[in-house]
Amino acid sequence: MPLADEVIDLFARKGTSAYHGEAVSQEEHALQAAALAESEGAPDSLVLAALLHDVGHLLDGQDEDLADRGVDGRHEEAGCAWLSRHLGLDIIEPIRLHVAAKRYLCAIDPSYRDGLSPASRLSLSLQGGPMTPSEAAAFEQNLHSAAAVRLRRWDDAAKVPGLIVPGPSHYRARLEAAAASAPAPDDRNPPA
Ligand code: FE
Repeated sequence: MPLADEVIDLFARKGTSAYHGEAVSQEEHALQAAALAESEGAPDSLVLAALLHDVGHLLDGQDEDLADRGVDGRHEEAGCAWLSRHLGLDIIEPIRLHVAAKRYLCAIDPSYRDGLSPASRLSLSLQGGPMTPSEAAAFEQNLHSAAAVRLRRWDDAAKVPGLIVPGPSHYRARLEAAAASAPAPDDRNPPA
């Protein structure tokens, strides 16, 4: 199935599941994050990264209550492994780094941590807690860290119950264009 169809189908089948401890569904959360990115005039790659950043939660029925049970499901890695079959690094890497971006922002901005939702604070400790100064310095060297930080802020804000935003098909053309222009995975990761 082409990626755009697969994504829209995934939201239709699994999107109504709760967004971990928040008052919005997975689909509402993804659509709000993408709408925020669009409203800031972000490039299409980042709008799509916002839409897809938690797709790992929708794959293979990942357990909703993992964090409550003290387990970090590493959803960003599961999502990236699936998406990397179809999309380029400008979309994949901010997604891969969006949890690291939370740990980074907690390290550099004490008020950021205070603003996190209770569920997000709980998962932070499972994800390793705030970065150390050397971890934060290394993170800043990553080519995609600034994009990941932007994505993180949309992620944190995309939890408004009942907000009306465009649906998944609003992003269909951009999904199709991104999938059509992405290099084949084998070209991006040549064997050593
Ligand atoms: Fe999220």
